Amino acid sequence: MSIRTRSLTKTYGTTEALRGVDLDIESGGIIGLLGPNGAGKTTLVEVFEGLRTPTAGEVSVMGFDPSLESVALRQHIGAQLQATHIPDGLTAFEVLRLFASFYERSVPVEDVLERVNLNGKARELARNLSGGQKQRLAIGMALIHDPALLIFDEPTAGLDPAARRQLHEIILNLKERGRTILFTTHYIEEAERLCERVVILNRGQVVADGTPLELVRSSEGKSTIFIDVDGPFDPAPLLAVGALEQERRGAHYRFSAIDSTAVIVALGEVLRSQGVTLTDMHMHRPTLEDFYLEMVDDPEVADLAVGGESEVAVRKPVA
Ligand code: ATP
Repeated sequence: MSIRTRSLTKTYGTTEALRGVDLDIESGGIIGLLGPNGAGKTTLVEVFEGLRTPTAGEVSVMGFDPSLESVALRQHIGAQLQATHIPDGLTAFEVLRLFASFYERSVPVEDVLERVNLNGKARELARNLSGGQKQRLAIGMALIHDPALLIFDEPTAGLDPAARRQLHEIILNLKERGRTILFTTHYIEEAERLCERVVILNRGQVVADGTPLELVRSSEGKSTIFIDVDGPFDPAPLLAVGALEQERRGAHYRFSAIDSTAVIVALGEVLRSQGVTLTDMHMHRPTLEDFYLEMVDDPEVADLAVGGESEVAVRKPVA
């Protein structure tokens, strides 16, 4: 087990940043932590890293209590913070060599540079690296002692798509090497692509926890079915099996449905019995983003209410 929390709470003054978080994170694989601004993601990962002390509850990371045993814990975890301070008057090589000196055991700097695709930039001053390269150097700093657990706070924030893709490859390689990677992100499609498991925080509580597929399947969202027909078409039989007509433009129709299979089966019948030809059809299933938006509050509203008096229904975790 990499991480275990029970009834974990963190309060800043009147702000309840974490409100009873229970989590078990097994070793190995990629876990994404999602949630709107202010949901408590950074607070949670910084509690795991020993940088913040919980107000109440239990937390164990790699078998250590982060607030009491942070020095020992640091040998086993690698962290990239939202604003990692990089000594920018040093070269990439020197930065990593400096960080290697902080640990009992470390990997050769050249190997880390290769793992984060910075071999060509070893002699470059950190201040001259691009945003994506700096971020990869920050990840390299977290990898230098080859820890079993990596915690990254928004590692891809603000990067262009190519730089993000490079970071995804680095994260996937870490997983292949048997590491556990927990990272926060606001890019839901990246969580869907990379993670075996997604945990959604809202107002300091876990509101969903499962594989991306499990979460999407539990979505209340509807599929959208787009069809184009040739010939006089009466959609009434589709409506009878639960389709809702959303749009009709000439021969183009758009329906929404919870049970898309029933609509597709009925569509086959309708086309045959009405003698209509289908000229185009496609379907959009609910995505992780649709599910996420069902589960979390509007960040603007949440900002006003966190720590305030308003009572908000928190949905039941799905798994
Ligand atoms: P973001 O996605 O914007 O980074 P987050 O999910 O990481 O947000 P946190 O940074 O953990 O959220 O913040 C959770 C809540 O705790 C917010 O209401 C925030 O204002 C508050 N908070 C965080 N750090 C402190 C602090 N040092 N003092 C007071 N309040 C804080």
